Amino acid sequence: MFDVQNIRKDFPILNREVNGKPLVYLDNAATSQTPQQVIDVIVDYYANYNANIHRGVHTLSQEATDKYEQARIKIQEHFNIKKAHEVIMTSGTTHSINLVSNGFSSLVKEGDELLVSAMEHHSNIVPWQMLCERTGAELKVIPMNAQGELVMEDYHKMLSEKTKLVFCNHISNALGTINPIQEIIDAAHKVGAAVLIDGAQAAPHLKADMQSLDVDFYTVSAHKICGPTGVGMLYGKEEWLGKLPPYQGGGEMIAEVTFEKTTYADLPHKFEAGTPNICGGIAFGAAIDYMNAIGFDAIAAYENELLKYATNELLKIDGLKIYGTAEKKTSVVSFNIKGLHPYDIGSILDKLGIAVRTGHHCAQPIMDYYKIPGTVRASFAFYNTKEEIDVLVKGVERAMKMLL
Ligand code: PMP
Repeated sequence: MFDVQNIRKDFPILNREVNGKPLVYLDNAATSQTPQQVIDVIVDYYANYNANIHRGVHTLSQEATDKYEQARIKIQEHFNIKKAHEVIMTSGTTHSINLVSNGFSSLVKEGDELLVSAMEHHSNIVPWQMLCERTGAELKVIPMNAQGELVMEDYHKMLSEKTKLVFCNHISNALGTINPIQEIIDAAHKVGAAVLIDGAQAAPHLKADMQSLDVDFYTVSAHKICGPTGVGMLYGKEEWLGKLPPYQGGGEMIAEVTFEKTTYADLPHKFEAGTPNICGGIAFGAAIDYMNAIGFDAIAAYENELLKYATNELLKIDGLKIYGTAEKKTSVVSFNIKGLHPYDIGSILDKLGIAVRTGHHCAQPIMDYYKIPGTVRASFAFYNTKEEIDVLVKGVERAMKMLL
């Protein structure tokens, strides 16, 4: 039995009121909330061992370095990564993707093709467009269908020896679709293309295994999995990270610097210029511990229940349409009400203490596909309840009464 009431006690923010109503936080795909266990780790860092890492001989610096490197090991183990130096600490998914796309400037050229899925977050589109502008490579789009699934037949036909890179999210933030990434990776490898999977939305719902996926690059943001903002990881296979040039220059990433020539540090430091988000990295590790203590199988089963319940209850509302009805999806419900703008619904829900996301969810091409300006998106985490979904449904009905 999944004891959600007990879990909710870990999240102080869930006790607060918004506009005089108990907070119903259903914007988890944008960012998750932080349990006390992770908050304690953040406080402990600043209260007891705040210091710069990797180069200090003093005790505080060594303590901070040890904790930071322990976090890297936690991340390595969680994602079943072969070598700890294949974990690059970044500021999050956006930074991770930019690091790779920048590095590929010297590895792709005019005539090469890059394949992007039709349901990407802007952070997995724009850096690649910039790469194409720099190099003359061509960006081609793997289409989606009305259910919000990728058209895999088309994908297989698009692959050729010209394909150098394929990038796709593991799970869509706007629709919740779980993409068939194993099939995507295996097919790309057959033509010699590398694959980057944006795991930002997958990390809160499932445990991805880097070795069994055999993926080349995978990205995560800690704030989606109960960790702090501004920290995340890039997983890269050693052979690829070896080929990519450094992204940023500065302290920490060098072996030796003279005005004549600089040599770079080994992995992972080659990609970790400057003082990192030390506290954030340590808290990222703590967030992984927290989620694992609950267990990803239990989380997935419970969230699936919430998804089914929310889908059934919302569909009882006349004129409500859900976008993204893929067979395999996570706990995201993106919807619109006939005749209403999503922003107006979201604003009324906020007055009722309900936090949802409205708009294009940084995935404008998906909205263009459906020919809509945006959706109302309710995204559920393992600390949400069916009672909160009832509050959402009542809130939507109330908004309709006021607006229609
Ligand atoms: N990709 C997906 C699928 C996302 O949901 C997000 C966050 N909304 C990102 C990328 C970007 O993550 P971040 O802002 O943490 O870099």
